[in-house]
Amino acid sequence: MLQLLCPRLMVNSLLEIDITLLRQQGIDGIVLDLDNTILPWDSAEICPEAAIWLHRALDSGLKAGLVSNNRQRRVAEFASQFAIPFAARAFKPASRGFQQVIAEMNLTPDQIAVVGDQLFTDILGGNRLGCWTIWVKPLSAREFIGTKVTRQLEKLAVRVLQSKKMI
Ligand SMILES: [Mg+2]
Repeated sequence: MLQLLCPRLMVNSLLEIDITLLRQQGIDGIVLDLDNTILPWDSAEICPEAAIWLHRALDSGLKAGLVSNNRQRRVAEFASQFAIPFAARAFKPASRGFQQVIAEMNLTPDQIAVVGDQLFTDILGGNRLGCWTIWVKPLSAREFIGTKVTRQLEKLAVRVLQSKKMI
């Protein structure tokens, strides 16, 4: 169980993810979380740097998709800006949304890096499928009330992982 909560990589933001390194690791696609990974939770505005990063990733030949627990409209609007596949209301860490998007990208889980700000949804969901996982710091301290509860669990999990030198 603990192993499933361990990200392969930890970064402060999307912008720190080295696209060349991903390609060297055999990664052909990235599956991104939306809220607090690409967009602050309470905002519809992608920061220009993140947009540039995503365009650069797509230009490098990486495929991209979105898997979000948020509502259809918000996720679809964002996905359409980049013409990438998405799953909304995905109930992460459930596998179905990830599987659907990875299939639409014509890739398999071992070719995918899942990028997200939550251990118990993004990282756990990605690891269960055998994807690479990248944990980013949340963009905003504001978040859904339910997330605030799981953040407490997450803090606990991080302390355990650190004590076991797993992260
Ligand atoms: Mg998130």
